Amino acid sequence: MRLILIGTSGSIISKSRSYPAFLINDDLLLDCGEGTTQKLQQLGVIDSIEIICLTHLHNDHFMGIISLIWYYWISGISKKLQIIGPPNTENTIKLILKLAHTPEKLGSLRIQYTELEDSEKIQEINTNYTIRSIKVEHIFPAYAYRIKDSKSVITYTGDTKPNQKIINLAKGSDILICEATFPDKLQRFAHKHGHCTSSDAATIAKKSNSKKLILVHISPVFENQIPIMKQQAENIFKNDIIIGKDLIKLEI
Ligand SMILES: [Zn+2]
Ligand SMILES: [Zn+2]
Repeated sequence: MRLILIGTSGSIISKSRSYPAFLINDDLLLDCGEGTTQKLQQLGVIDSIEIICLTHLHNDHFMGIISLIWYYWISGISKKLQIIGPPNTENTIKLILKLAHTPEKLGSLRIQYTELEDSEKIQEINTNYTIRSIKVEHIFPAYAYRIKDSKSVITYTGDTKPNQKIINLAKGSDILICEATFPDKLQRFAHKHGHCTSSDAATIAKKSNSKKLILVHISPVFENQIPIMKQQAENIFKNDIIIGKDLIKLEI
């Protein structure tokens, strides 16, 4: 499995980081924040995307899908695209496309929407990958994903405060991509707003026995505290920790 960090910023986009998106091999995207379309062009994989898993419908995590669909339509690309996401994903995307004067019939692009249930149980969707998802604890329905092929597992938390369900989902992951929006001193604020600190991310990685932790959803507000946040995580999780940067590539 190959993982490329497309966008590693949090709610506020920054000079060096675009909004959340993570590419697995050359066909699956986890989230699709603004800036993703251009990065996929740069990487030469824009036409091979088959599946997009959206964690939740906050602006930073999905608005890139509008320009990606626009690109496929206007370029006359013939392909099938499966979009997996929370309840109301299809209505939301279709409404924005309509408001942006995109035609209802998208030429040769066929989009299949798969909406997750508003339920506490692990949901499984089988594609080329085994995709498992669990509802996490954000401000409104948000989901984490576990992506497995024949050899490896990558789990991505999306936005969430720490909880046991995400630990269960991530069990034994080769890579855990976990949001770390705030440093430890803002833990109460982080949890109140449905987010993790760097120590929370490290605790999830440790308790789930993940092999490697990538901290993402990095805010420019805390850019100067990144070394402290990494140290806070290293005090808890003794395996490899990577601070997410756009276009880092990892082979598992
Ligand atoms: Zn976010
Ligand atoms: Zn969010």
